Amino acid sequence: MGLLVQKFGGSSVADPDRIRAVADHLVRTRREGSDVVAVVSAMGKTTDDLVRLAGDVARHPGGREMDMLLTAGERISMALLSMAVEDLGQPAVSFTGSQAGIVTDTDHGKAKIIEVRGDRIRAAVSEGKVAIVAGFQGVSTSLDITTLGRGGSDTTAVALAAALGADACEIYTDVEGVYTADPRIVPTARKLARVSFDEMLEMAATGGRVLALRSVEFARNHNVKVHVRSSFTWAPGTWITEEDAEMDAVEAMEQAIISGVTHDTGEAKVTIERVPDRPGIAATIFRDLAEAGINVDMIVQNVSSAGHTDISFTVPRPDVDRTARCMEKIVVDTEAIGFATDEHIGRVSLVGAGMKTHPGIAARMFETLASEGVNIEMISTSTIRISCVLAEDDVERAVRSLHAAFGLDKE
Ligand code: ADP
Ligand code: ASP
Ligand code: MG
Repeated sequence: MGLLVQKFGGSSVADPDRIRAVADHLVRTRREGSDVVAVVSAMGKTTDDLVRLAGDVARHPGGREMDMLLTAGERISMALLSMAVEDLGQPAVSFTGSQAGIVTDTDHGKAKIIEVRGDRIRAAVSEGKVAIVAGFQGVSTSLDITTLGRGGSDTTAVALAAALGADACEIYTDVEGVYTADPRIVPTARKLARVSFDEMLEMAATGGRVLALRSVEFARNHNVKVHVRSSFTWAPGTWITEEDAEMDAVEAMEQAIISGVTHDTGEAKVTIERVPDRPGIAATIFRDLAEAGINVDMIVQNVSSAGHTDISFTVPRPDVDRTARCMEKIVVDTEAIGFATDEHIGRVSLVGAGMKTHPGIAARMFETLASEGVNIEMISTSTIRISCVLAEDDVERAVRSLHAAFGLDKE
């Protein structure tokens, strides 16, 4: 008998009807002959509501209490789903992350999974039960409840699939799979049948939030087969697999150069102005930011003039105030003249393994943006990705025009 891990996102369990539909699907999967472990997110927008509630009672809620609060969301859905499954005559049992043996480090709000014990899950499954696990949470090495970062239920599901040796990890969501762009922004986006781990990593890292970045890293490192699909239509979706796995020669030849266009409006740009251009300056700036726990992403240093230069970088938007406080000290220490922050930016990226062998992709991207009158503020690349930072207001137009220019629109 095979084993499937099936994860249901917030919109998939948003209300009692949805929970009953998911319960029905779990029971069907079980009756078709597969053992099944379900991972659930909090209902609908519960996590956002809880975050807001914390903000209403405290200016700077602490990480430990925040995690206690947010994990309650997933706890509600796991218990309701378990009741709904039992109501259909199929034994089920729910577990918190801690009960499932998901051990993390102590970094509240973005804890990393260190170990998945899973003993109680294995025991429940071998007793013929559907095991239902609360996503997005674990217990730290110092025995506090932790969360894995927003979207972290994907990571719970993939980590459990790896630990239990599941045949596949199915991520059920409100779209039919991974598309060539966010279908909410680009109505002409197409569903991809297959995406390689490397492409999916780049897409997840640059705003394609259909899968959490950590879950893709986990899947690649443990070679977990991930199937992203819809809990509304139950249609076959997108497989995330090794590059070229199961692809025949014709398919490989026909594969598009670009797999997708992603966008991210969750970052801000920070520029340190006229900093002396000498060895050790960049090290000082980014060491201080790292020590403050600020995750710096894209970095661009301008050409130097008269021994001075500007350095720009991006940080997550919620970290902008903290970054500004750090920059005040950095400006003094490095004898720069000042710094500026800009929260009205966005990043648009092209992702595609075909980029490795096809020259001219960057040129075509820049030409397309130029013809739309979009100004590029920063550029960064990897072997299979090109990203541009633009004004936030230009992001949607840029995504749509690039999607069309690279032939991704559906017929
Ligand atoms: P869940 O609650 O099920 O985890 P998410 O909201 O985290 O769902 O992820 C699904 C959403 O991801 C979709 O509704 C879609 O708007 C968005 N999305 C962004 N980029 C893509 C893409 N390339 N393909 C599919 N969905 C995408
Ligand atoms: N409920 C959490 C969130 O909204 C985790 C998840 O849905 O994956 O981020
Ligand atoms: Mg999600």
